[in-house]
Amino acid sequence: MENKAIQSQGKQGLILEEPFLFEQSLPDSIGVVLPESEVDEIDIESALPSALIRKDIPQFPMLSEQQVVRHFTRLSTWNYSVDGGFYPLGSCTMKYNPKLNEVVANMSGFADIHPYLPDEKVQGILSILWDLEQYLQEISGLDAVSLQPAAGSHGELLGILLMRNYHKQNGDSHRNTILVTASAHGTNPSSAAMGGYKVKSLPILSNGLTNLQALQESMTEEIAGLMITNPSTCGLFEADIVAICKIVHEKGGLVYFDGANMNALLGKARPGDMGADILHFNTHKTFATPHGGGGPGAGPIAVVAKLKPYLPTPHIVKTNESFKLEYNVDQSIGKVRSFYGNIGVLLRAYTYIRTLGASGLEEVAENAVLNARYLAHKLQDTFHMPFTTPCMHEVLLTDEKQTEQGITTMDIAKALLDEGFHPPTVYFPLVVKAAMLIEPTETESKQTIDLFIAALHKIIKQDHNVLASLPTKTKVKRVDEVSASRTPCYTWYC
Ligand SMILES: *Cc1c(COP(=O)(O)O)cnc(C)c1O
Repeated sequence: MENKAIQSQGKQGLILEEPFLFEQSLPDSIGVVLPESEVDEIDIESALPSALIRKDIPQFPMLSEQQVVRHFTRLSTWNYSVDGGFYPLGSCTMKYNPKLNEVVANMSGFADIHPYLPDEKVQGILSILWDLEQYLQEISGLDAVSLQPAAGSHGELLGILLMRNYHKQNGDSHRNTILVTASAHGTNPSSAAMGGYKVKSLPILSNGLTNLQALQESMTEEIAGLMITNPSTCGLFEADIVAICKIVHEKGGLVYFDGANMNALLGKARPGDMGADILHFNTHKTFATPHGGGGPGAGPIAVVAKLKPYLPTPHIVKTNESFKLEYNVDQSIGKVRSFYGNIGVLLRAYTYIRTLGASGLEEVAENAVLNARYLAHKLQDTFHMPFTTPCMHEVLLTDEKQTEQGITTMDIAKALLDEGFHPPTVYFPLVVKAAMLIEPTETESKQTIDLFIAALHKIIKQDHNVLASLPTKTKVKRVDEVSASRTPCYTWYC
């Protein structure tokens, strides 16, 4: 392996200096001293079938504690992080994660409880989870919550399965299609398809909003429901949302509300009041729990009363002053996740909500929108803005005004890395060409946002040939996007 490590130097732009190779095992290094065993040695030969007994000891790497700490600390500095800088990744809501949330989630009374403890031994955490359900009900304006989904997309799948169950119970099984707005996140059509539905895309108008006429025409007897995001992934508030929900309901459909953009609505408006039947939260976006690179997360869903009986088990039930986990729920669709949800993440969301309180959450939405509108105002003359409707918590731009100079969205994104910023989301949503979706979030100061604006203005003054060679300051330089997607390599040595 050590040879491979040396051979790999230079490939993919990774420069691995000699002392920092990935394979660092040294025969005499020891990182941990295990205590003397307190149990009597057993006779393995008689305790286990011979086929299960190892013939040799596996070749674990031998490393000192210091080597391991340095290795992972070094790797962590190669990644961009929200603790390290501005991370305006549209739709992903990379806001700052307050460290108080970490303190609470790591308290041993929470972190060390065993999932198989009986209800009476875990009343504390059950009461917190129950409270969190109440908060999410209040914030969403809906009637019941399940904390179990492990991500927004998991919440979507659960929501679609609830929808399916609801129609089945009503003898409406012929409904086999879900409408998804054209600007939707890719997880929406995927979830609908995984839930067994056909997907029909609903076009948007030239102002970026949902086309009501197209919706009206599409709402046939086959439609089980509509998946809609509000504010949309174009950063726009669907001002006709009440009428949209009415059209769907009148034809017997349900409205699935993708709540990934709740950051813009907290304390200001409630999806339940707009007509949503099902909504998922992304705690890791809206309620400041750490995420990135695929996890961790939690995607609680909130539903209207008529869907409550179908929620997955266990339900958290409050009886007098105690709490229990109820597994025997007649109409429940059953379990969707091991144990009770991603408790560590849910505790962080709970702490965030309690720290800010109702008025603080409202301020979050105000500042998220204010920051985005400030950005939009400062960038509107230099960059093409596909929609004139004022934005909510994120700004959508394209590279249209830069094409004459030969500068693309990708060039701008890569150049931002050298300026010390994480790029915005690029080439999404798909409804505009070469999108840049910038979400500053409420946790950024005017100072930081001004620096970001200055960097963008500086970048587009550069020659496109220079931009095409950027970034130069990052560990991984400009990558070949095509081979990265066609022949991906997930290890450090290829
Ligand atoms: C992030 C996001 C999702 C998916 O949520 P995950 O928690 O990443 O699974 C769905 N819809 C929108 C609009 C999102 O931004």
